[in-house]
Amino acid sequence: MPKHTPSTLDPRSPLVLDTRELPRRPGALRTVKRVVPAPADLGGEMIAVPQGADLDLDLRLESVSEGVLVSGTVSGRVRGECGRCLREIDDSLAVRVQELYAYENSTTDSTTDEDEVGRMQGDLIDLEPALRDAVVLTLPTNPLCREDCPGLCPECGVHWDDLPADHSHEQIDPRWAGLSQLNRKEE
Ligand SMILES: [Zn+2]
Ligand SMILES: [Zn+2]
Repeated sequence: MPKHTPSTLDPRSPLVLDTRELPRRPGALRTVKRVVPAPADLGGEMIAVPQGADLDLDLRLESVSEGVLVSGTVSGRVRGECGRCLREIDDSLAVRVQELYAYENSTTDSTTDEDEVGRMQGDLIDLEPALRDAVVLTLPTNPLCREDCPGLCPECGVHWDDLPADHSHEQIDPRWAGLSQLNRKEE
């Protein structure tokens, strides 16, 4: 039994690709270039594409024998927080997307699992799951404002960049404080 995504795709949704104009003849090509607003939660907790930010789709749709191969690049902005110093990160991101979407009721549809190959709903393709996977895989789990970010002084929380080179919080252990006083008396 072929498995189908239960929800119905909305052809007006920004990340739904309509293949009506792509002939179902292997080798037929169509390009999709458009700018769409990013969906919510595109990324991780520390760094993500802000919801509603521009996503540049530069995609190629190619008919293959039992479906449509979507490949190309999606780029946009990412914002997050440095995992070491909490400074804001404002960066750009470009991810490669390549995913095969099987026609409904094709042999591929009935012989492969849902997580192996994408599925078309009629003429529609939902790009969002593949895009989400690509973005999450590309973004670092522990983002840094720069590779050699020294982070914050654990004592005072000030960025090491803003502290003098000899900055320290050397404190005399109370157990030794008495000793140092003794030393002083001896002097
Ligand atoms: Zn940092
Ligand atoms: Zn400090």
